[in-house]
Amino acid sequence: MKRCNTITELRRTLREWKQNHPGGSIGFVPTMGFLHEGHESLIRRAADEHQLIVVSIFVNPLQFGPNEDFERYPRDPERDAKLAEKAGTDILFMPSVEEMYPRPVLTKVMISGLTDKLCGASRPGHFDGVGTVVSKLFHLVQPDAAYFGQKDAQQVAVIERMVEDLNIPVKIVACPIVREPDGLAMSSRNVYLSPEERTQAVALYQSLQQAEQWFADPDLTAGEIRQRMSELIRRSPLAEIDYVEILTFPDLEDSRQDIPLGDLPPGFRYIAALAVKFGATRLIDNRIYTVKGR
Ligand code: AMP
Repeated sequence: MKRCNTITELRRTLREWKQNHPGGSIGFVPTMGFLHEGHESLIRRAADEHQLIVVSIFVNPLQFGPNEDFERYPRDPERDAKLAEKAGTDILFMPSVEEMYPRPVLTKVMISGLTDKLCGASRPGHFDGVGTVVSKLFHLVQPDAAYFGQKDAQQVAVIERMVEDLNIPVKIVACPIVREPDGLAMSSRNVYLSPEERTQAVALYQSLQQAEQWFADPDLTAGEIRQRMSELIRRSPLAEIDYVEILTFPDLEDSRQDIPLGDLPPGFRYIAALAVKFGATRLIDNRIYTVKGR
């Protein structure tokens, strides 16, 4: 595995590889590091499908709000490098903030509509930061495909739309959520949780699991299921709900909240998306449900 800390080095390495591997395809996994099995699953999938695997580790200040955790976001580059290599990474790109943003950023990628709900509503400017850094990374790496986790479902939708709107020649691959044995979605932020918060954090998964049964009931509506999920999460005393939403999937529309599920066309899909704070730690999770009809 080759490590590149600068854009010049990354470009030189990619150019040489392309010269030696005409027609070879590149798979790319952008991350913020502090890697876990969720990241690993993306890298392994990319390695199954492409000849050259590029992973980036960059904690992007542009996507953090002023009162968010940019400074204390967990970082462990040496451990990350070992894990990335083991999972099949060929090039690990780890630029500094100065390398990525040598001057104040005057050009941003802003994705509207899709970003005014869920995490976009709770974290103003977050998706402009994501869109900007991901498009920069796509220009630098020029991959054939890029791998993202379905855990950040809105991020996947936003990136897919950006790539379509701007005709960026990259295939976006969404990968399943990897979980801890008790169901908590893996996240670099899980290390912030106190033992008590960690125990109660499983409430997100439990409500998504429980909702499977509710979504099988043709007489319930999305709005009613949303209420029930919120109530279930509130039973954990340390949980503070940021949002519990049920939106149509893949459009992420806040419609069809009051229609009994049995009256929807079979195969209709909803996504339940959750953001819940435990102390200062904000966790997200989601699941997609297919309506079965009566
Ligand atoms: P992050 O480093 O948190 O920005 O995540 C980098 C990529 O890994 C994003 O595409 C995430 O959606 C994905 N990812 C993070 N956690 C998981 C998980 N538990 N399962 C699958 N993918 C994940």
